[in-house]
Amino acid sequence: MARLGSWIEPFPEGIYVKPADAWVDPSQPKDKALVTHGHADHARGGHGAVWATPETLAIMGVRYGQQNANPVAYGATVRIGKVEVSFVPAGHVLGSAQIILDYQGERVVVSGDYKRRPDPTCAPFVVTPCDIFITEATFGLPVFHHPDTGSEIDRLLHRLHAESERCVLVGAYALGKAQRVIAELRARGHDAPIYYHGAMERLCNLYEELGVPLGELRPATGASKAEMAGHIVICPPGALNDRWSRRLPDPITAMASGWMRIRQRARQRNVELPLVISDHSDWDELTRTIREVAPKEVWITHGREDALKHWCMLHQIKARELNLVGYEDEDE
Ligand SMILES: [Zn+2]
Ligand SMILES: [Zn+2]
Repeated sequence: MARLGSWIEPFPEGIYVKPADAWVDPSQPKDKALVTHGHADHARGGHGAVWATPETLAIMGVRYGQQNANPVAYGATVRIGKVEVSFVPAGHVLGSAQIILDYQGERVVVSGDYKRRPDPTCAPFVVTPCDIFITEATFGLPVFHHPDTGSEIDRLLHRLHAESERCVLVGAYALGKAQRVIAELRARGHDAPIYYHGAMERLCNLYEELGVPLGELRPATGASKAEMAGHIVICPPGALNDRWSRRLPDPITAMASGWMRIRQRARQRNVELPLVISDHSDWDELTRTIREVAPKEVWITHGREDALKHWCMLHQIKARELNLVGYEDEDE
């Protein structure tokens, strides 16, 4: 009998599914690409044909223009070559999916990036039992424990209200994190206008079109310092310390990222108010997920592979590091 998963071949540029002649999240242009979600390290332009959720395809459309697109809604199944392929929610960003691959009685789940905490901007992660579970390990060390999101949002609001002559400038990745921070603020009762950097506009509009309400948003461009005082302004992390922020009223610099747990990372970006808000699983979420999915083997794509592999071995689960290249943690 062939080795379990012998029909799936990891290459540095992605996961090749032989009987479908297709790739999952390839970092190079390929004839057939199955894409888990819209972050740039997983979704690239230039493929011959793309299979993804309608939301991910819409995000790719905004970023790369029209794709040769095959939308697959959550729960639907398509056949590609000799493989049955379906997509279920990963809870990471809007449209993010785990890709389920069924071939000759074996089931492989490629989870892409995922988290288990509630997120008002996307459908929650669905546990899918399988033979091989392919997981990320961005925060795959026991020291990583993300705090409760609501308490991080409350710290932000407390600081905003304490210094109402200033503004709080929140650095957040433009796809996913920015919209989640806005939606979490709304869920905490903050209904004042939120100002945004121009780079956020198209994706915020798209989220709203796809049914994620974000409340009143205003462009920071053209607003006066007096108008923005006492308000939250949101921008990509790269704009936190650049000239752009000089137009703001004495900003309190914040950043929403799982990496804000590490003081050195906060200091590098001159972040005064680090907010530990992550779209990736922390250590407990990773290990809980592996227990619940209960696969025969775990394959680890990117992040802190060795610690998670060691945990799997301690729990009698066969594990393997895939060492894919090109996956960055900038989406965090
Ligand atoms: Zn991602
Ligand atoms: Zn990733």
